[in-house]
Amino acid sequence: QAQISRESNQLTEDLTMFSWTLEQLKESTNGEFIGPLSEESTIQFTSISTDTRTLQPGALYIAIKGENFDGHAFIDKAIQQGAVAVLVSEDVDTVVPGVEVEDTRIALGQFARWHRLQMPVKTLIAVTGSNGKTTTKTLLNNIFSLAGNTLATEGNLNNDLGVPRTLLNLRPEHEYAIIEMGANHLKEIGYLTDLALPDIAMINNASGAHLEGFGSLQGVIDTKGEIYQGLNQIAGRKEGVAIVNTDSPGYQDWLSRLDGLGVKQVISFGTQPEAQVRVSDFKVQESESSGITFSLNLMNEKHLVSLPVLGFHNAMNAAACVAVSQAAGLNWQQILPGLVSFSGVSGRLQKTAINTGWLIDDSYNANPESVKAGIDALVSLPGLAVLCLGAMAEIGEGSASAHQEIAEFARDKGVKHLYVYGEEARQMPEVFGKNSQFCTTHEEMAKTVLKQLSKAEQKQQKMNVLVKGSRSAQMELVSQQILETF
Ligand code: ATP
Ligand code: MG
Repeated sequence: QAQISRESNQLTEDLTMFSWTLEQLKESTNGEFIGPLSEESTIQFTSISTDTRTLQPGALYIAIKGENFDGHAFIDKAIQQGAVAVLVSEDVDTVVPGVEVEDTRIALGQFARWHRLQMPVKTLIAVTGSNGKTTTKTLLNNIFSLAGNTLATEGNLNNDLGVPRTLLNLRPEHEYAIIEMGANHLKEIGYLTDLALPDIAMINNASGAHLEGFGSLQGVIDTKGEIYQGLNQIAGRKEGVAIVNTDSPGYQDWLSRLDGLGVKQVISFGTQPEAQVRVSDFKVQESESSGITFSLNLMNEKHLVSLPVLGFHNAMNAAACVAVSQAAGLNWQQILPGLVSFSGVSGRLQKTAINTGWLIDDSYNANPESVKAGIDALVSLPGLAVLCLGAMAEIGEGSASAHQEIAEFARDKGVKHLYVYGEEARQMPEVFGKNSQFCTTHEEMAKTVLKQLSKAEQKQQKMNVLVKGSRSAQMELVSQQILETF
């Protein structure tokens, strides 16, 4: 049956589509041809897939060994779905030709790197940091899409599979590319930046996020710093620009690292006097549409910016993106429209008007830094502050004290009610004091909050709610229930 569907696939192959040859795959990955030998020279594939559920006819199927599954078990399925070639790391019998390599993950990276070097993309931008990678990537996509044809990482595909997949989406028409890079342990960013070979590399910040795999904040700083290694690696290109945050732990480390790497062009952003894109005069608007205003001080100009999002950290994110845009040669007139059209990323501090004020959904993820940033944004709004917090995951050893510290921070910042969910957050109410509760279900939390909201409404009091937690806490269930009934 696989044989039949393969033939029909070849018939329907769209010749106008971008395609690669198996030969190119073999050469770039140092692999060996396998399968029906006579066909290897003629086979072309038009997409790349590691998952038979989303595989398109005409694809190269890459068998990846994951934690739970081994992709080699799905080769027949992939061929039935229309895969015309395979990339494997085991001796397999297939009816379509393929390439065998030692490690398919590494080979995917090598192929992506090779592809990136074939593409004429003018400026490739790599973004990393403990917090705000997806936010700044989205903002940069807004800005650069107005300047030219732009490719950006989809969603959060920022690891050793996501980055190569994004790079393989580069096409001859792309002028700009924005690549998000994430890491859980040392050397990971170094690996990714060596695939992407960026022209501009930005570290948004370093904080104690995901400490588990790094051991210490210094480990985080070093790992983020690896991104700069990818600059100036393409022969003949020496114009790579590093973007650094003057306010972040690691700033000095990164400057010396850049010195060591011989990267001459650095643009800094932040609130410090030396920042070349400097944030000042930050204010929360009290108007209906509530957002933030701040000044961006560039070398010879100062601009007042208003954004319909919350949080000081978004002023910093904007500054980071302006620094990147300047590095790419865009002027203020080119930057501004994309910047001010930014309305946030779903699940990241997204605000919805409710009868008493705002519900801020920041349920996408949480670590101590981003929770503090969220609390700052919450208490900056006029009205009583309610914090619904799901436990922060992946913190490692200091988890209990990190949670307690957040409870203190929330209380000191003037949060009125604190509701928590998830085992690691259990001690928080005790630290916070009155008006606090540990909830065993999302429903319980939503109900408790709804009660407070109704009270506030009756008394015509302003009340705002921030819902936040790690991905595993699924706190969007709480915001959904609140929004459904209030
Ligand atoms: P991930 O590691 O999951 O990919 P990310 O770095 O892509 O995360 P975002 O998804 O943009 O980050 O935002 C995650 C959280 O961090 C959100 O709660 C957001 O409000 C908060 N955040 C965004 N930017 C900053 C910043 N500059 N400083 C602190 N917190 C931030
Ligand atoms: Mg992200």
